Amino acid sequence: MTKLNLVWFRNDLRCFDNQALCSAIEHANKIGASVAAVFIATEQSWVKHDMAPIKQDLIRRRVNALVQELALLNIPMFCIEGQSFSHVPDIFKQLSQHYSLNVFAQREYELNEVNRDSSVNTLLNEQGSELILCNTQCVMEPNTVLNQQGQMYKVFTPFKKAWLAKLELEGIRCFAKPKALTNNIQHLAEIPTLKQMKEGDGSSSSWCVSEHEVLEKMRLFCQDKVHDYHNSRDFPAIDGTSLLSAYLSIGVISATQCIARLQVEHEQSWCLNQTGAHTWLSELIWRDFYKHILVAFPKLIKHQPFQEDTANICWGNSPLLFAKWCNGQTGYPIVDAAMRQLNETGWMHNRLRMISASFLVKDLHIDWRWGERYFMSKLIDGDFAANNGGWQWAASTGTDAAPYFRIFNPVSQSQKFDPKGIFIRTFVPELRACDDKDVHWPHDGVKGIGYAKPIVDHKWARLHTLEMFSRVKKPHEENLPLISVSEKTVWQDKQNKLF
Ligand code: FAD
Repeated sequence: MTKLNLVWFRNDLRCFDNQALCSAIEHANKIGASVAAVFIATEQSWVKHDMAPIKQDLIRRRVNALVQELALLNIPMFCIEGQSFSHVPDIFKQLSQHYSLNVFAQREYELNEVNRDSSVNTLLNEQGSELILCNTQCVMEPNTVLNQQGQMYKVFTPFKKAWLAKLELEGIRCFAKPKALTNNIQHLAEIPTLKQMKEGDGSSSSWCVSEHEVLEKMRLFCQDKVHDYHNSRDFPAIDGTSLLSAYLSIGVISATQCIARLQVEHEQSWCLNQTGAHTWLSELIWRDFYKHILVAFPKLIKHQPFQEDTANICWGNSPLLFAKWCNGQTGYPIVDAAMRQLNETGWMHNRLRMISASFLVKDLHIDWRWGERYFMSKLIDGDFAANNGGWQWAASTGTDAAPYFRIFNPVSQSQKFDPKGIFIRTFVPELRACDDKDVHWPHDGVKGIGYAKPIVDHKWARLHTLEMFSRVKKPHEENLPLISVSEKTVWQDKQNKLF
């Protein structure tokens, strides 16, 4: 039987800086095996995990591009439609009837993915081979940035400090793109029982999928834009962030490559606080932080809050208010513009993710998990760790979360971060005629004709949030900032009038 080292691509859909690919080739040279690649689409599992259709399409388009890129390295690829994770071991069983396999892949940390890999490994062990996993999803491997007690940090700032110290000590390494193989297998066996991967729906077509183009995007960002990142990154009307999250989430580029480039372009400033380069580096460290947290605290994968007392919060969970939030019809222009950006493009600016998440939880009193799920079902860059971390931060239920009494005012956030209303007008056409002042709150007089009425009164909603959190945070304390009965009646009256 032909010996085949199989690179199983999952969320590392790239040829540069791909340890699994490099290890498979190196090992094949040692044992005289051929090298091939495989991708298995698992639509049922993707849907179960709320993966957005636009992200599914990006993956399928990227895999097609990867087939061409690997062909230039003389590496053929199987692209298989495999339904769900539970079908994956059977696919390897079928492949191993034709080849003597060793399988190389990048490790994934989520629970179902871990279980899937363990089943595949068991199956391969029965055939006398194994699944070899590389830890290259993060810049620093989970469980390697620990405090003096050998435990995971629960707060970002000391984690970042330790992370930077490790970077200084060890540096980082990017794996070179392999050279084209000579004498490799040319054609893979036709296995009629395996279905060919189907095409996507084309919804991600405005996002390029060639590795070369994505690397160029990253290089240009590091050359031209990153120096001003700390000033511009909070303003959604400015094109001031890298827009690389979709590519990082499916691994068209790695965070290690981004940092290596940053160090080359900004040799002096990348390690200096309050520079654009260092601020961008911090965001990439946040990405590692949330993945490390997920590995250290598996309860997060089960959608449990990090701060256990917050599990007892009594959420309002109004389906009507939730639907208005999802559809960008809350009457709060910045929130509506944000939600419409998400619905129309599959992406949302970070400042707006914070504002709209805070609004759902602290103004509408809806369980953060509803919002987490909705974001996941729409985002092209949906990533469990970053999304969960972002939502738990906004909801004040997570590690290093915003304190519960710090509540965004959606109108002043709007005035501060979209001062001229340019972003709002792009996504909320009803408000195009409003001037720069009224566009943030078009409800006095007849300025925003045709635009939704506000579905909640922020002032009262804020008080209610303080009450909700105080009840679980300080259950034994007297003099809680409880809303008085009269205040509550006014609040409920206001709610009723708004509909
Ligand atoms: P840049 O500002 O250029 O940052 C560079 C990269 O750093 C990003 O591409 C991303 O990989 C990483 N990054 C930046 N900010 C964060 C952060 N706060 N946490 C973790 N990583 C970060 N990011 C996702 O990739 N997927 C998600 O599903 C996701 N959901 C979020 C949900 C909420 C409620 C919040 C508040 C944030 C969420 N983020 C998520 C983080 C952040 O909003 C996006 O990474 C960022 O907006 C992507 O744009 P960019 O590529 O231009 O980022």
